[in-house]
Amino acid sequence: AQKYVLTKYFQGEPKKSDFKIVEEELPELKDGEILTEAQYLSVDPYMRAYMIGYKLPTDMIGGQIAKIIASRNKNFPVGKYVTASFGWRTHTVCNPEEPPSLGFLPLTLVPEVKPHPVSLALGVLGMPGNTAYFGLKEICRPKAGETIAITGAAGAVGSHVGQIAKILGCRVIGFAGTDEKCQYLKEIGFDHAFNYKTADIRAALKEGAPKRVDCYFDNVGGEISSTIINFMNKNGRVAVCGSISSYNDNMLPKATILQPALVFKELQIEGFLVNRWIDRWEEGVNANLNWLHEGKLQYKEKIYHGFDNMVEALVGILRGENTGKAVVKVK
Ligand code: NDP
Repeated sequence: AQKYVLTKYFQGEPKKSDFKIVEEELPELKDGEILTEAQYLSVDPYMRAYMIGYKLPTDMIGGQIAKIIASRNKNFPVGKYVTASFGWRTHTVCNPEEPPSLGFLPLTLVPEVKPHPVSLALGVLGMPGNTAYFGLKEICRPKAGETIAITGAAGAVGSHVGQIAKILGCRVIGFAGTDEKCQYLKEIGFDHAFNYKTADIRAALKEGAPKRVDCYFDNVGGEISSTIINFMNKNGRVAVCGSISSYNDNMLPKATILQPALVFKELQIEGFLVNRWIDRWEEGVNANLNWLHEGKLQYKEKIYHGFDNMVEALVGILRGENTGKAVVKVK
């Protein structure tokens, strides 16, 4: 068994030398416990941002899909898959009622998703899917006919938010970092998609949102967010989900004056963490599963290969290599 231990705080992009891969001895299984083997590990932007607050050295956080390979718990038989926050490790021994908590994901059995891959439990049927579902429904609270803008739109959360917003009858405008990603967003139903690296953002907003923006799902922060917020309608709602544009700067705050827009348009702007809805987790997964079965929810995965390539995968998503959810296939 192996695990990643973070030994240095990230400076700029994460580096392999910030980690040590450590061999682990696994304990004997006690009554009620299971032994799992990681199949897919998740890489998520929060990993870059969160590790700033940890005391080092520390086990690397993260969700994974693992196969139960030994069990002394009849509710969790050998051969089944679980998702859990086991961190970046190949094997885990735990009692499923008291799992390790190295991340955002509760321990659950992976729902039957055939013909789709089990890895969806890290994407549309997992933490990003629930972030999209609850962040949109509970914070943006879009009504049919309203216009929603989404940044980080081609990623795991953003691409999902846009599709739910279409299901709810909204006009959807997305911003992503390449023309190919924008093309994909149009294929999955976005009304407009703009490459934020080449477009004039105000002109894009005028074209894509002629009635201005009612809801903004903010995955990136920074200047583009200020431009969008200043383009919103009265009583608009902003769900602040992430600020990936500043994660590699160790979150140095950048001053932007937003108060006039907030005051005169009486905007509601609210940050959230998806674990706020941990008690409603299944509701989100089931809603997303139903939309998937109905063919209303499409997804893409960017699959990296090998436990040794975790850092490359994490850097990859921070650089925008992924469309949809990025995961690492362990073997
Ligand atoms: P993504 O799949 O969206 O991957 C990250 C994407 O961010 C990249 O593909 C890249 O796409 C984009 N990106 C990278 N750097 C920049 C930049 N400087 N400016 C704008 N975009 C950039 O990740 P997730 O869907 O998993 O997460 C999206 C956001 O949601 C993140 O901010 C994350 O922290 C947040 N999040 C928050 C949660 C919560 O509970 N609040 C839970 C889960 C996620 P591109 O090519 O378009 O630049």
